Amino acid sequence: MHELIIIGAGPAGLTAALYAGRYRLKTLLLEKMAPGGRILMSEHIENYPGFPGGISTHELMGRMEKQIKDLDIEIRTEEVQGIDCESKTVKTDGGAYTAEALIISAGAAPRKLGVPGEERLVGRGVSYCATCDGPLYKDKDVVIVGGGDSVAEEALYLARFTKSVSIVHRRDKMRASAILQEKLSLNKKINFILNSIVTEINGAEKLDSVSIKDVTSNTTRRLDCKGIFIYVGQDPETAFLKGKLELDQSGFIVTGEGMETSQEGVFACGDCRKKSFYQVITAAADGAIAANSANKYIAEKRT
Ligand code: NAP
Repeated sequence: MHELIIIGAGPAGLTAALYAGRYRLKTLLLEKMAPGGRILMSEHIENYPGFPGGISTHELMGRMEKQIKDLDIEIRTEEVQGIDCESKTVKTDGGAYTAEALIISAGAAPRKLGVPGEERLVGRGVSYCATCDGPLYKDKDVVIVGGGDSVAEEALYLARFTKSVSIVHRRDKMRASAILQEKLSLNKKINFILNSIVTEINGAEKLDSVSIKDVTSNTTRRLDCKGIFIYVGQDPETAFLKGKLELDQSGFIVTGEGMETSQEGVFACGDCRKKSFYQVITAAADGAIAANSANKYIAEKRT
């Protein structure tokens, strides 16, 4: 029997574990892959306080993992398959575990474009992770889709070694932060294809071009390229919580100020919860608050 189970070891889950460990809660941290979370799909992070000039995401997440090493947190690499919020039981592909409180920090997964050719050519030109796959496209032309911070950061990364990076965005304005947009406009390898959407990803064995529709003129053309990186947002990893906790229309967990969910003793933090600003720093802050609330909940239950 654990006092606390944390589901997911991204910035939110690792920070929750850091605080829980320091509260000396007997904690189990479950993660289906390696600790680090979705931020590892980006190469570099510039806006995490304390690191002027930025820090590699692998280094930052490695440091967060190291910080919980001596706190006696049990970490298991298992995928959660089901959860019973009443009894606080979590079923995984490796067993079943019960605790007094749960923290869900399951994160979010990259959203798909949903166009013909996308699924078929994943790993053969279609990628959702520039850090992982970018180096395969040295001196090649690539396309990157979206208009947020992720696109901006990853376009700058890809431009370091690819021949060209075309940003395809559905509107006439990016939503990425101003400082990133300034950097994009100064980079000669980066060009913008605005008011445009990708309608098809083409290639027999490997991607060789993408079809791009200009939504103002309604004309479609093919653009030759070897890779497409898709950064059109994220969907929460909360399928296992449907019908068990209050979720919003898009599946994000509804929480209060203390990260409490609709179920007593179950807390949620990071990218899987509904909030207005998804950042590593806000995920870490959520994790600290969730652990604090869980610690209070466990203590109050015993008195
Ligand atoms: P995002 O901010 O949600 O942006 C998604 C982009 O994809 C938007 O520009 C959106 O267009 C576009 N889009 C959505 N669905 C589309 C579709 N079906 N077809 C074409 N385009 C589509 O996602 P993100 O950039 O991954 O960032 C997610 C969150 O993480 C944000 O809060 C962001 O600030 C944060 N983030 C932070 C950092 C950092 O702190 N260093 C780094 C990366 C991301 P519209 O603009 O028209 O809606």
